[in-house]
Amino acid sequence: MKELQNCRIAGLTPSSHDPFEGMTANSAGGDEAKLLNRILGRLEKRLTDSKRSKCRDLFDKLDPVSYLKENLMTGEYWLSDENAENKLGPYDEVARHTPFFEGGTRMAGGSIVLNQHSFFFTGTAPNRQRFTETLTTRSAMFGLSMDEIREFVILHEMYHANDTKGRFDDNVPDNPRQNYENAEAINKLIRKHCF
Ligand SMILES: [Zn+2]
Repeated sequence: MKELQNCRIAGLTPSSHDPFEGMTANSAGGDEAKLLNRILGRLEKRLTDSKRSKCRDLFDKLDPVSYLKENLMTGEYWLSDENAENKLGPYDEVARHTPFFEGGTRMAGGSIVLNQHSFFFTGTAPNRQRFTETLTTRSAMFGLSMDEIREFVILHEMYHANDTKGRFDDNVPDNPRQNYENAEAINKLIRKHCF
């Protein structure tokens, strides 16, 4: 696993794949590991639930449960091949997927970094309001619990990991409208099939 470019939080026991590598002290008062483990447990149930096979089917190029065990990280930098300044938006960018290429071909996989300062861990929006209370009925996450929203965030990023054609890429420079529409398209699919 690639190193994140910041220091390790004291007091967390790293697991074998160590999704907490790179985490600095902050946000959820030291309970980040517990929180993330809880969400991963919920996701594993959701992705193996026979009544939700359409959710599992959104990730047809991956084994989603193994993928998450190997490729999910927490930090404040996203990963790229260059060692450029890759800081995530301080609070508002909740997570980012970085695609994985082999011989110029985009493969299923890549890594996901969860922003340790974002609402994923804190449960609060940048204006300090509870995140769930900031959602309008237009949001695909409206009405979900905070833990469901955390699952949703990871499912969204994993959708990118499976989208080898980049059909729904939503971080294309200078195309905010298309980015928004693509992100919404993913969110609608996830809401419909996974919740
Ligand atoms: Zn996205």
